[in-house]
Amino acid sequence: MACPICDKETSPEFRPFCSKRCADVDLAKWLGGGYAIPSNDPDDADELVDALEKAMEEGDEDPETPRLS
Ligand SMILES: [Zn+2]
Repeated sequence: MACPICDKETSPEFRPFCSKRCADVDLAKWLGGGYAIPSNDPDDADELVDALEKAMEEGDEDPETPRLS
């Protein structure tokens, strides 16, 4: 099974992703609502992670984590 974000090997610890980084990318996608990643290009994922980290730094409060189960 491959990570849906970057197509790398899935890690059992972060299923269905390969890493926490890609899990964060997926979370950011949900948080952003209509914020769609145009492709599985890892560069796009990198940009999204950067944007997410920046947003987390700017907001000092804990980000609300949606429960999507
Ligand atoms: Zn990945």
